[in-house]
Amino acid sequence: MSIIDSIKQSIRNWLGVKETILCDTCKWDWRSACHHAERPNAVKCPDYDKRGT
Ligand code: SF4
Repeated sequence: MSIIDSIKQSIRNWLGVKETILCDTCKWDWRSACHHAERPNAVKCPDYDKRGT
């Protein structure tokens, strides 16, 4: 996770936003496999596929 991503996550936590980050459990969470700009902090994604299924 980059510093920018960490700051975004901290702000969300500070605001009490209860969003589930899909990328944390997605099997496409690799640079070469996913080209969505939202990665690694997508909270909505049509291509989400749970890792391990
Ligand atoms: S496919 Fe969607 S949920 Fe999965 S890593 Fe990419 S952006 Fe995240």
